[in-house]
Amino acid sequence: MTAARGERVRIVEVGPRDGLQNESRPVPTDRKIAFIRALAAAGLREIEAASFVHPKAVPQLADAADVLRGLDDLPEVRISALVPNERGLDRALAAGVRRIAVFTAASETFVQRNIGMSIEASLQTFRAVLRRAVDAGVTARGYVSTAFVCPYEGEVAPADVALVTERLLELGCDEVAISDTIGVAAPTDVTRVCAPLLRTIAPGRIALHLHDTCGTALANVVRGLDLGIRTFDASAGGLGGCPFAPGAAGNLATEDLVYLLDRMGFDHGVRLAAVLEAAALIADVLDRAPTSRQWRRLRGPGCGAA
Ligand code: MG
Repeated sequence: MTAARGERVRIVEVGPRDGLQNESRPVPTDRKIAFIRALAAAGLREIEAASFVHPKAVPQLADAADVLRGLDDLPEVRISALVPNERGLDRALAAGVRRIAVFTAASETFVQRNIGMSIEASLQTFRAVLRRAVDAGVTARGYVSTAFVCPYEGEVAPADVALVTERLLELGCDEVAISDTIGVAAPTDVTRVCAPLLRTIAPGRIALHLHDTCGTALANVVRGLDLGIRTFDASAGGLGGCPFAPGAAGNLATEDLVYLLDRMGFDHGVRLAAVLEAAALIADVLDRAPTSRQWRRLRGPGCGAA
């Protein structure tokens, strides 16, 4: 693809939620708030900040309400929170949430093992959640996990992804993140799954949520751009491992995505050096250097910084 001077790309920062939920070392609430504020200062305008799953299920995110309350003076940033059910929605609304995210998958076995219900049952749960959210003036995005490959079922059929995506849009989501949960997709998978979707769904309603387990995330972004997709999820510092591949890289790192988009001439409003500053706040608590290329290039040993 040729350079796209000034064409706009949206980056949805998911590090504070998708990243931290896979980290076992507890991060204090005030540090999470400082991290999210640093991400906002870096130019990120959409940040998934918390999750209202049951506090016992993910102790790392049990402070979701306090995190949201610590961010209520950032009107220029669209802060969102994951909501699994109506109880979670009650807590999210009480904390003043303005945008929620709901989560299901294209693979029956994955949904069953991950949230203990069928895809259809998860959609019925979201029907009530999304109706109440819309009534409260809250917007929503959906995630379709294991949209390319499932750790239990193998290659996922594009028709299954299309069905779940269309249902989420019908139920009230304004966009759906097509997600490579285990980070094994290649550009051919992106075409196989997304090209059929884009025949009936506007590209503005599709995001790509990529993990970098196999080092293919940026290649998949480029294929997504070729297909007309202009929204990409990313996680500062590449936070969040893959539960099916211990020790592997996590979500696509925001700074690596920013580098690629800068180099290709896309406009996104995010400053790479400031993303690294934000990532440093969490690396410090986790006592572990980020896995991203840009961290190693600009902050790693031999670069004059820790
Ligand atoms: Mg993820």
